[in-house]
Amino acid sequence: HPLNEWITPEIQDRNERILKRPPVLDIQKLHKSFEHKGKPVEVLREIDFTAYKREFICVVGPSGCGKSTLARLVAGLETIDDGQILMDGAAVNAPGPDRGMVFQSYSLFPWMTVKDNVMFGMVESGMSKLTAESEALQWIDLVGLEKFADSYPHQLSGGMKQRVAIIRALANQPKVLLMDEPFAALDPKNRLKMQQYLLEIWQNIDITIFFITHDLDEAIYLADRILVLDAHPGRVKEVVNVPLPRPREEETFLSPAF
Ligand code: ADP
Ligand code: MG
Repeated sequence: HPLNEWITPEIQDRNERILKRPPVLDIQKLHKSFEHKGKPVEVLREIDFTAYKREFICVVGPSGCGKSTLARLVAGLETIDDGQILMDGAAVNAPGPDRGMVFQSYSLFPWMTVKDNVMFGMVESGMSKLTAESEALQWIDLVGLEKFADSYPHQLSGGMKQRVAIIRALANQPKVLLMDEPFAALDPKNRLKMQQYLLEIWQNIDITIFFITHDLDEAIYLADRILVLDAHPGRVKEVVNVPLPRPREEETFLSPAF
């Protein structure tokens, strides 16, 4: 791939450092087919990929190549036909708190305030309401939404809703954050702001991000490595190391009040 020709000693060094980290998400010889009109249709064929601690991985590929299916398999929302997915060495076969998920459609609970949306998972997992509330408010502050803690999702802009969806997922302290085209519905200006928010969060907490997009520019901007899938069936075409520095890194960081 042309991008791999740009690998400087600095990038080489970074890649070697990444590969010395422990693997977090290990996808091994993964196969998946769906039934269509009574016949099996192969969607993913022999996907092999390892994501290491604190890596930012983007997955790109043409529409229908199985990107969402791959994310749903990692999330434990689909059954595995063959092969396996390991999280910290343990096989995945159901959703779990070690994997958080953010979708394009936000999927916030419309009847709950921002604060209640963010608290929800923490309370479900047994945290006291008081502690969950104080943690939720810290997350809400972190993304500059303190004035909106008691607002409802319909009162927020798309970018704000997506910030809530991200902190709701992060509040449960997952090891891997799965994001399926999370910013695809945003206008370019808000998309860039969300990308910068996400990078800032990622640089400050211990999380591996598995980010799906059909936008190669977005992938190049965000990722350490890009997993490129081929279509029909979805297969690993290549894994691209993204050159540093990030192309738009020099652009000004957002103020929390956008
Ligand atoms: P992408 O996210 O890359 O666009 P998807 O993972 O959504 O691709 O879909 C890959 C293929 O699998 C498509 O052909 C789609 O129609 C099919 N598919 C996805 N989910 C299901 C399902 N639950 N049942 C049957 N077919 C499905
Ligand atoms: Mg998809």
